[in-house]
Parts: sequence; C-alpha cells; structure tokens
Amino acid sequence: MVYEVTLKGEKFYACGECGLIYEAPTHASLCEEWCKAHRTCNTSIAKHSIGRLKPYTRGLRMQGRV
Ligand SMILES: [Zn+2]
Repeated sequence: MVYEVTLKGEKFYACGECGLIYEAPTHASLCEEWCKAHRTCNTSIAKHSIGRLKPYTRGLRMQGRV
C-alpha cells in the first residue's frame, strides 16, 4: 500500500514496504512492487527517492493511503 504523505506542505508518496518517499506516485508503487517481490530495494527506482519515512514522520504527517 503506497502512503500519501505531506511534508512541508507538499504531497509525496511513500513505499509501504521500505518507506522510501517519492515525488511521483508511480515511483512509489514501482518501488513497492519491487520490494514485495524481491525483499530488497531497486537502486534504479530508489535513486528517485527524496528520503525515507521515519517512525515519527509516519505518525506525525501521515495523511492516508492512496
Ligand atoms: Zn520500497
């Protein structure tokens, strides 16, 4: 499940498996598909990431699931 997160007033999308955050929802869902299938991160997808969800971020800024 890809998460929609708001950071500093902007919307981003996070992989529900590894927590990497992306600007584009397509990257987040690609990452999640890869994570589920391979249990590891694909660097060619992960390079698009702008960061990783931390537990406190998850609780504080979580908006909902896409
Ligand atoms: Zn992932």
